[in-house]
Amino acid sequence: MRALRLPNWKSEPELVEVDEPTPGPGQVVVKIGGAGACHSDLHLMHDFEAGAVPWNPPFTLGHENAGWVHALGDGVSGLTVGQPVAVYGPWGCGTCERCRVGVDPYCENVAEAPVPGGGGGLGLDGGMAEYMLVPQARQVLPLPDGLDPVLAAPLTDAGLTPYHAIRRSWAKLGPTSTAVVIGVGGLGHVGVQILKATTAARVIAVDTREEALKLGEECGADLAMLSGADTAQEIRQATGGRGADVVLDFVGADATLALGAAAARTVGDLTIVGIGGGTLPVGFFSVPYEVSIQTTYWGSRPELIEVLELGARGLVKPKASTFPLDEAVVAYRKMRDGTLEGRAVVVP
Ligand SMILES: [Zn+2]
Ligand SMILES: [Zn+2]
Repeated sequence: MRALRLPNWKSEPELVEVDEPTPGPGQVVVKIGGAGACHSDLHLMHDFEAGAVPWNPPFTLGHENAGWVHALGDGVSGLTVGQPVAVYGPWGCGTCERCRVGVDPYCENVAEAPVPGGGGGLGLDGGMAEYMLVPQARQVLPLPDGLDPVLAAPLTDAGLTPYHAIRRSWAKLGPTSTAVVIGVGGLGHVGVQILKATTAARVIAVDTREEALKLGEECGADLAMLSGADTAQEIRQATGGRGADVVLDFVGADATLALGAAAARTVGDLTIVGIGGGTLPVGFFSVPYEVSIQTTYWGSRPELIEVLELGARGLVKPKASTFPLDEAVVAYRKMRDGTLEGRAVVVP
């Protein structure tokens, strides 16, 4: 079969011929219906080097995947061949306290995981291929009725990651509150939809690109602001001087973190989702009182079940552009150029 593989750090992915995987005991092979192209893949190709993460190339890219069960290994029950499924992406040990409650991204026994701190498309072979081996059957979740694998694929990361970040701030997202989404890209546009579907907060979308603001409004943002020197002040004006109860930074650069801190309301949340690598000085005088600042990474397996439900009911629908496997590199190029709208999904 064909697979889009990352051969080395700081290299371009290559479409090559590899053997089809066969499932061992407790494993599942999924026929891929859709594999999302994530902005973090660009960091894998261009920025990371040996030692940055506890795993290395070569491996097949694609860490947001859905499709149909193709083959079951010995001892796997509860799944049937041909059944539409999503693959939960972060693969932990399965036995530590975090993994037992379905929070594999924060596994505390990574030495026992299939790959330490990674998963399919992150150290092990992912879904940018015709078939994908999932080494733990518990990571394969049946799709609710009516959800197409092409749309389910981006929900496993571009949906799950913002969902987790938003869900943990639900208590601060009542009807009188305002949420700010910085960066209306692959994750941010789904974040706007999730805020509208699961909270009564007013939503302000912020981006440097006009097209992204248009997408934010299409997704339900009440207000869209072009990012500039006065954005924090504009957010304060739009909130009666109070500021935003919850700021979700899907970029994570110095400038966006500074904007988030300047725009946050006292007792608000500033959540850093984007892996832009920026930093924010935090001290008694530098952020509003009792603002909680946190990073998040991906989401839990129970949360993915909830996101898939939102997808099946049409409440959350990633704007997906599809690409065949031999044009996956085009999707990444458009992503790098900032000309990709919403999420690219590779359909092998
Ligand atoms: Zn991702
Ligand atoms: Zn674990």
